[in-house]
Amino acid sequence: MIVTGGSRGIGAATARLAAAAGYAVCISYVRNEPAASAIVREIVDAGGEALAVAADVASEVDVIRLFERVDRELGTLTALVNNAGVLETQMRVEQMDSARIGRVFGVNVFGSILCAREAVKRMSTRRGGAGGAIVNLSSIASRLGAPNEYVDYAAAKGAIDTFTIGLAKEVAGEGIRVNAVRPGVIYTDIHASGGEPNRVERVKGSVPMQRGGNPEEVSKAIIWLLSDEASYTTGALLDVTGGR
Ligand code: NAP
Repeated sequence: MIVTGGSRGIGAATARLAAAAGYAVCISYVRNEPAASAIVREIVDAGGEALAVAADVASEVDVIRLFERVDRELGTLTALVNNAGVLETQMRVEQMDSARIGRVFGVNVFGSILCAREAVKRMSTRRGGAGGAIVNLSSIASRLGAPNEYVDYAAAKGAIDTFTIGLAKEVAGEGIRVNAVRPGVIYTDIHASGGEPNRVERVKGSVPMQRGGNPEEVSKAIIWLLSDEASYTTGALLDVTGGR
């Protein structure tokens, strides 16, 4: 399995759970090498197999290198979690410059599509592969729009929803299932990159369950979608939001 952005947050929780379920896991990261190494060590100490690769998903060269490394070191790819995602400082659309919008779409949208392309090349029965499953991390922001915070990010996740539906149909007859998980507000570092580390505390009152979620609660949904338990599920957008 490849989990992009597996060094922290939801990706790290997914890597741990995947290793416990028996997957050999490759996590990618972009700059936090100590965090990535710590997850790998944790998995290996628990008897699992793991590898960390520095690769910016917005870079086509890095993505190709990431998948080739997995081909060489972990063997046949059966699962991809397109988890790497970024948002930027909260602001209104009229204040956003093009560089920022480019970064948001570069990681969230281009990154996910490039990684899915490499996964399909390896998994598709049409190309001699043995099939597999892909889960894309969208966000409930794709439905809510994130006004006054990050409409660009919400729009990027809207693109992920549509990409999930389209790719699922494109490869459904080739042994590949493609689904998305749309988390609500989850306790991770991502809110600090928006400039509000305690955002979950501020908005949790608007969640019907009256609390934020934990990364593990999202990763369980991801692992289920990748497993044979979800063998007839493809093109689904699964909300993990506490009812929001
Ligand atoms: P996070 O805690 O901020 O962690 C982000 C991860 O992505 C880190 O491992 C980071 O690596 C990696 N990353 C960032 N840019 C990258 C790039 N260009 N290439 C490769 N890896 C990159 O994020 P999170 O909250 O766990 O979010 C995971 C996913 O869930 C994202 O797609 C996010 O949009 C989505 N999501 C999160 C929430 C939430 O409330 N947390 C809600 C809805 C959706 P480094 O450690 O090297 O920086």
